[in-house]
Amino acid sequence: MLKWKRFRHPLFGSNTYVLYNDEGEAVIVDPTELVVRQSVLRFISDENLKLQMVINTHGHWDHISGNRLLKDTYGIPIAIHEKDREFLLRPDLNLGAFLGKFQEQYDTSPPADITLRDGDRIFDMEVIHTPGHTPGSICLAYPGRDEPSIVLTGDTIFMDSIGRVDLPMGSEEEMLKSLRMLIKILRRNTLILPGHGEVGTWERLEEVNAVLREFLNSWTDS
Ligand SMILES: [Zn+2]
Ligand SMILES: [Zn+2]
Repeated sequence: MLKWKRFRHPLFGSNTYVLYNDEGEAVIVDPTELVVRQSVLRFISDENLKLQMVINTHGHWDHISGNRLLKDTYGIPIAIHEKDREFLLRPDLNLGAFLGKFQEQYDTSPPADITLRDGDRIFDMEVIHTPGHTPGSICLAYPGRDEPSIVLTGDTIFMDSIGRVDLPMGSEEEMLKSLRMLIKILRRNTLILPGHGEVGTWERLEEVNAVLREFLNSWTDS
């Protein structure tokens, strides 16, 4: 069974997730430096978790800024989709050039140790490549895309909105394809763990997410 704990960055609003199993093995998805320093390190030691790696759903600063601190503390590898690996090292792409000034100590991450592709399996989850917000955005489906009970959606989709496509290397067409593909995969009771905001079921998301409906409707003729 996969357990999870969410930590929210007070300024960026992005969610850091610690995912762990019955054996106490754990991965951290989208760590921000502030919440790692203030909360996650303590949680890891209180729960006696054996951290295995960091996974970034994409390369934006509000999802990677804790990579360096976790790497320095635990020596664990960093995994990201191959198409976002450059983002880790470039503040102009990861937006650290703009966001980093407020809170976080660095504006880059260490380089990726593991690059991911669609269909890869990592910590009992399946990587689903969902480009659009960035070229290497991924969702993570547990236990897999065939019967997803939990899906981490990064900045591709939130309970009340969808990810921006107007940032460097974003693509509206790619986002449309990714969302249409996700809709086929997700089930009513799939729990969505988004990159920002609250957690909820896919059924609930479909009810309340007017932005998603409008976006899809605006493309129905194409
Ligand atoms: Zn983002
Ligand atoms: Zn974000």
